[in-house]
Amino acid sequence: MIIPDWLSDLHFAFSHRGDGQMSFKHADKDVVLESRNRFFHDKGLNLDSVVTGELAHGAEVALVTEADAGRGARDRNWIEGIDGLVTDKPGILLMTTHADCAPLVIYDKAHKILGQAHAGWRGLASGLIESLVGRLKSLNGTGPSELHAWIGPTIRACCYEVDRDVADRFPDHCRFLAGESIRLDLTMFVHRELWRLGLNPDYVTDSNVCTSCNPEFSSYRRDGLNTQAMACITGIPE
Ligand SMILES: [Zn+2]
Repeated sequence: MIIPDWLSDLHFAFSHRGDGQMSFKHADKDVVLESRNRFFHDKGLNLDSVVTGELAHGAEVALVTEADAGRGARDRNWIEGIDGLVTDKPGILLMTTHADCAPLVIYDKAHKILGQAHAGWRGLASGLIESLVGRLKSLNGTGPSELHAWIGPTIRACCYEVDRDVADRFPDHCRFLAGESIRLDLTMFVHRELWRLGLNPDYVTDSNVCTSCNPEFSSYRRDGLNTQAMACITGIPE
């Protein structure tokens, strides 16, 4: 998994399949809490500093502060209706959970403003990246050309067969035929969106991991109901 230097300078952790179930949507609360408590302890991170959202497969992004700390950390009291989180508060940990949908982290190094999103096809088709970049820009004084972005482990075109009605929501350069099936390249879409919104391609880092190809990672397409959703956690150091 490729991780850029700027991400290593933040609080950052990404759980793997073996770290257990991280989503309340996929298992009983006790099972998830056991996985989360163990993982956060191992990484030296405080679970009560976490803020997470419902992950509703939409384009809504919330601006979060210290008052939101703990939302969605130990129960389903997440921020409803959102797939993106933005903060400029050191110590707050943004968390999203994933099994094929892409983690997208964007950081304004100069102004220390952090954003993170859970990006599946529905959110991406609805304008999630534009919402996230817009929310970041509302807090900073510089343009998007100074933003750094990371695209985390996600299902890639090698494994992502979709129906025609899904493919038709995306531009031609993001879809292709493989035999009889239609494949969707959502990572290409993310790169193009970031470029369109003014980010410098040199500041965009791709993890280069396909969740479906790599058994260390969780894939809903591959594992179905046995999926152990992974957690992506970022935060601005105090
Ligand atoms: Zn693959």
